[in-house]
Amino acid sequence: MKIYADNAATTKMSKRAIDAMLPFMGTLYGNASSLHTDGQRAAEALLSARERIAGRLGCEPSEIIFTSGGSEADTQALMSAAALGERHNKKHIISTTFEHHAILHTLEALEKRGFEVTLLPVGESGIVSVEQVEAAIRPDTCLVTIMYANNEIGTIQPVADIGRLCREKGVLFHTDSVQAVGHLAIDVKEQCIDMLSLSAHKFHGPKGIGALYVRKGIQPVSVIYGGGQERGKRAGTENIPAIMAMAEALDEICENMEEKAARLSEMRDRLIRGLNRIPHGVLNGDALRRLPGNVSFCFEGVEGEALLLYLDDKGISASSGSACTSGSLDPSHVLLALGRPHEIAHGSLRLSLGEEITREEVDYMIDTVTEVVEKLRSMSPVWRDLQSGNRAYMTEA
Ligand SMILES: *Cc1c(COP(=O)(O)O)cnc(C)c1O
Repeated sequence: MKIYADNAATTKMSKRAIDAMLPFMGTLYGNASSLHTDGQRAAEALLSARERIAGRLGCEPSEIIFTSGGSEADTQALMSAAALGERHNKKHIISTTFEHHAILHTLEALEKRGFEVTLLPVGESGIVSVEQVEAAIRPDTCLVTIMYANNEIGTIQPVADIGRLCREKGVLFHTDSVQAVGHLAIDVKEQCIDMLSLSAHKFHGPKGIGALYVRKGIQPVSVIYGGGQERGKRAGTENIPAIMAMAEALDEICENMEEKAARLSEMRDRLIRGLNRIPHGVLNGDALRRLPGNVSFCFEGVEGEALLLYLDDKGISASSGSACTSGSLDPSHVLLALGRPHEIAHGSLRLSLGEEITREEVDYMIDTVTEVVEKLRSMSPVWRDLQSGNRAYMTEA
């Protein structure tokens, strides 16, 4: 069996998305800034894609800026809020300890520019509360940036409540929604979201394309200098093939979203129930308030990297957490943010399911993970110490 269970890292492009991009790589290759017919055709396509994407978010087409992906959208959102903050002498930003590195590393850059950053702890549940945000807001707070759903453990944050609070307090609210788009309801007006990032390759579109929504009235700053594309807010010839594919992929994933999410949640819960039977393992993050396709566990006495290699050998593509940190031996900052000790965080496994996952595949994953965990433990000196009582267990049997 071959199962791709790493959809939080990236997804396979859908046929509809591929078909949508091909004409714009072949006959319709014009530059949207050109005045001739070829250019105007490209410009029309660009406008139609912008309208479709805006429609899915509940905003105006003019509020969308196309970017090279989620990382650039996050960077531009934070840099824009920072520029506004500087102008009003407000240099305090609130975020959480378990954001994506596109946020955390941009915040570090802003700290060097004199900003003060409060990172809220998320606790065992992996969910920040609106009360925590409220308590952290100060008169000099210019931005709250909190992700909609976490990329490693899938937990869902109360964005609408945080949005309403921020609107009330006159503080800008940005949300990295890269993992949420296509799986959770998004309406930027209703949820009082001022800025929102998305990335096409997380919902069956191409890599290297994304978008930033910026509410009208907020002046975004460019992070790429050059021509006047995107109304001067993002230089560079528009990647129309990728933009067309992104619009198509977004339409496709949003069709019957609730039914698809319900089915996927059922598969997720079946997988969680199965993996819960492995002794001394623990589910990361709230069991219910999580993305429909996300399963994240830590197994005591197991090395995450070894687990992945064995699973790969059995046809299962999984991850230890985030694709961005795999390869480094540091445990995931997300799992540490939940309060997992280093020893436990090292034994992590994320299975992020695709919409087409079947019950048979879920059962195969349960059997295979159970078997591989047992095998690794039988070879582990740490496990031997735990079993003999020379070392205390940190998780329940
Ligand atoms: C993947 C991801 C990003 C980065 O998006 P890219 O398009 O790969 O740059 C940012 N935030 C979250 C939550 C992600 O999952």
